[in-house]
Amino acid sequence: MGEATHFPGVLGHEQVQGHLLRALARDQLHHALLLVGPRGVGKAQLARGIAAALLCPERPAVGCGSCSVCTRVASRRHPDVTYLEPSGGGRVISVDDARACHVTVANAPYEGNAHIVVIDPADTLNQASGNALLKAIEEPRPGVFFMLVTTNLQRVLQTILSRTLPVRVGRLGEQHVAEILAKQAPDVAQARRDTAMLLAEGSAGLALELARDPALESCISLLSAAVQAVARGPAGVFSSEKGPLWGAWKAAVEAAVAHAQAQAEAEAQQAAAGAPVKMKGGKPVGKKARAKKKSGRSSGEPVAQQRWVATRLAELWTLHLRQHLLEREGLPGVPAPSGRSPVELVADLSLLRRLESRIAQMGNVRLMVEQTLLELAR
Ligand SMILES: [Zn+2]
Repeated sequence: MGEATHFPGVLGHEQVQGHLLRALARDQLHHALLLVGPRGVGKAQLARGIAAALLCPERPAVGCGSCSVCTRVASRRHPDVTYLEPSGGGRVISVDDARACHVTVANAPYEGNAHIVVIDPADTLNQASGNALLKAIEEPRPGVFFMLVTTNLQRVLQTILSRTLPVRVGRLGEQHVAEILAKQAPDVAQARRDTAMLLAEGSAGLALELARDPALESCISLLSAAVQAVARGPAGVFSSEKGPLWGAWKAAVEAAVAHAQAQAEAEAQQAAAGAPVKMKGGKPVGKKARAKKKSGRSSGEPVAQQRWVATRLAELWTLHLRQHLLEREGLPGVPAPSGRSPVELVADLSLLRRLESRIAQMGNVRLMVEQTLLELAR
């Protein structure tokens, strides 16, 4: 067997993987890594890959990917990998969960030679839950490793940040995204997979979501309507409920509601079959599923679906503008941002980023979308 080039199940990120594998081979892996990068590029997958490498008896410091230890790590069933995530549909990791984790690591490891705590996303630690973990992160027991995951370094508590080693995880190459799509969404038509890949810009997670998203078309229509409304100025933004903009908004939310119902039913079936429920805290898929459980078959505009549509709108808009900044066509069928200089495009992008970062906290999603559109229309 030659020198290992990747962890089990981890595609791409050759440099990062090589660096981490060499550190592991020398027994010099930092005890608290902060994996930071765009969403959907495989940060959590990488964390699980490192955990497998730390625990695998067959191929130590690399992970074989096929023994019972590696398979249990991959399916989140190994007792020496603890996940600390927001619970109960909340947006923060609770102080109770953090304290429980502290107790867990104080007695670890259990089965293997190491114990790994995956904190995902790390920016959902607040002052209280963060403080509960500080000592454990600063002076962990031998064999205890922390893998913190975030898309946004700025939102991670300074006290946590200063005790970790940030590791940048960049975007995936197109061939890796295509490979992941082909493997995980083989039933989706090739043309749709291609569109998803184009839109997702190196995020396999986003590409998978888009490929399977029946609301994709209605969200693209919404983006078209929004770009046109912004071009018309405030009159376009404050148009009638039945006008193109808010009509498209309503259609997209309805499509999202239908999607959430299908998702919840699939998850219920999976759970009934005893399979692990695939859900990621804070990501649209999980949010929708949880919202469905709470809201039942309500036909109104549930806030979770509004948030989801607003997030998708901001994401697609960002991709569209970025394409224009690179002097490319932008999304097919969506009008170009007329008369915008590169400097203005960058300002627009930061407005969209702000919208995206606030969506989760806002009760009145539509009002916030409206405000952002007004600012974009300036
Ligand atoms: Zn193994």
